Amino acid sequence: MREIMRIDAAPAGHWVGDGFPVRSLLSHHLQGEFVSPFLLLDYAGPTDFSPATTPRGVGAHPHRGFETVTIVLDGEIAHRDSTGAGGVIGPGDVQWMTAGAGVLHEEMHTPAFTRSGGRFEVVQLWVNLPAAHKMSAPRYQTLMDDAIPHVDLPGDAGLLRVIAGDYAGHRGPAQTFTPMNIWDVRLDAGATATFRLPEGHSLILAALDGALRVNHAEPIDAAEIVVFTQTGGEIVVDADRDTKFLLLSGEPINEAIAQQGPFVMNTAEELRQAIADYRDGKFGVLPNGAG
Ligand code: MN
Repeated sequence: MREIMRIDAAPAGHWVGDGFPVRSLLSHHLQGEFVSPFLLLDYAGPTDFSPATTPRGVGAHPHRGFETVTIVLDGEIAHRDSTGAGGVIGPGDVQWMTAGAGVLHEEMHTPAFTRSGGRFEVVQLWVNLPAAHKMSAPRYQTLMDDAIPHVDLPGDAGLLRVIAGDYAGHRGPAQTFTPMNIWDVRLDAGATATFRLPEGHSLILAALDGALRVNHAEPIDAAEIVVFTQTGGEIVVDADRDTKFLLLSGEPINEAIAQQGPFVMNTAEELRQAIADYRDGKFGVLPNGAG
């Protein structure tokens, strides 16, 4: 079995804009090369928003050099970016945005969700790009829930949604630049499941709800994260209650990381260029001219 490298409890929360009360469960600053190609996992909510008139969210801001993957579990988000792309995603839907050479975008609660209020629960994952692809053209994939394979786990243990990669021959819809798996897993109380991910991949379990144990030993609570060794075979998960977690695996990108806020490059010089390009307006504008 793969060994546990570390278990990290969620740090204190912070707000991203006025719409995303997040806890950063994963950060390359903390967990380093063992989580590559993943850079960040922000877990927003679950939070109950009261009805409002003005949509909350995060206004126009840039990204360069990586991808943002937004997984909506509850609530609704509207997205617009400087390529003219945009859309609305709701429960079960995923938006996979390749910032590449650069986009400006905004991420807001939808007007309908703003008016109704209600439960909001969203994961945003940042996926690094290798140097050869950091300046790729921006790309936007909308992965609706009905396009994501829902696979019953053996022994009626629960359900697994394949967002990216492959589970038991079921292929996820996301197009990725490097090999990875992103699985959204529900295990029923009392159930056990075994997962085998590619040898050499980083492997991370992000617990979102419930209570579970990994490899028959370590108890894990909601909003905790487990980082495994990159080799060693399968992992086993026992659910002590109805449990919801993400399993992430990916081929590590063995390159230097230079990050400043929303820019993730390889060198300090590339960061200076990104900031200069943003100040010079080279990331464009949002479709209505705002930003
Ligand atoms: Mn963003």
